[in-house]
Amino acid sequence: MSIIDGKALSEIIKLEIREEVLSLKEQRKNIPHLAAVLVGNNPASESYVKSKVRSCEQVGFESTLIRKDDSITEEELLDIIKDLNEEDDVDGFIVQLPLPKHIDETKVTLAIDPKKDVDGFHPVNFGRMAQGLPCYLPATPFGIMTMLERYEIETEGKHCVVLGRSNIVGSPMSILLSRKGTPGNCTVTLAHSRTKDLAAETLRADILIAAIGIPNFISADMVKDGVVIIDVGINRIDDPSRKRGYRLVGDVDYESVSPKASFITPVPGGVGPMTVTSLLANTLKASKKEVYL
Ligand code: NAD
Repeated sequence: MSIIDGKALSEIIKLEIREEVLSLKEQRKNIPHLAAVLVGNNPASESYVKSKVRSCEQVGFESTLIRKDDSITEEELLDIIKDLNEEDDVDGFIVQLPLPKHIDETKVTLAIDPKKDVDGFHPVNFGRMAQGLPCYLPATPFGIMTMLERYEIETEGKHCVVLGRSNIVGSPMSILLSRKGTPGNCTVTLAHSRTKDLAAETLRADILIAAIGIPNFISADMVKDGVVIIDVGINRIDDPSRKRGYRLVGDVDYESVSPKASFITPVPGGVGPMTVTSLLANTLKASKKEVYL
């Protein structure tokens, strides 16, 4: 069994991005600038946004964090988005989800200019992705594709089972792996909460991508020997032995499943760090106008 070390790989990719930023600086070209909007004080969102801003600093990007209280109105948030869309100095920006209940997340996603949508959530980018056109790939699937590519994991002709059909992970993942390319050319099954006999599906997987948000859901009896496991889930479970009172686990029961796997991503330290790196890669593309003129 080999561990796919997302943390180590993300450090390598950050170094590569840093090199490019240094070269842009030498050529006196535009330095990538990422802005992030954080509404409220959800602890998980705070920690994701902090890590994104810290990563920007590491690679030499400019970054702006716009913090707003969760009493902000939808209209006020849409005004901030409008300003960011128009601000020439900002190459790309994200609005950290989830948003408070009184704000319509779809409205917010649709308000972001696709040219600056470095999270890759806007339907224009989703549609371009589905048709294989230049786009910003959604950050988590992009990170997973990069892991498969850099670890040279064979995907051609493999049966990939994706668990979960969200717009930001499961659904785009199923499209990307079924498309022509490397990684790609998989036969894909997309399973979800209404799938009957889930274990029958997961047992057929050469590659299993779990993105459902249920701690340790996939057990050893649900996978076959030699499976490649990509565990997207980030779940907090109580752990009184830890100072903070909890620990993070994935959707896959790592202890029992890992001995059967050929490759597996740990949680933490697998998909998570790669998501942040992909956001940086998209921002670099935005500043170089590689996707949209
Ligand atoms: P979501 O809640 O939007 O969607 C969950 C999906 O799982 C749904 O499509 C649902 O049909 C499916 N599902 C739920 N229960 C199921 C069951 N019993 N059997 C089969 N399918 C079931 O989730 P999401 O936003 O895609 O996130 C999924 C997980 O991935 C969460 O733990 C989230 O925290 C994590 N996540 C991690 C990263 C990362 O960078 N590592 C990024 C995004 C999300």
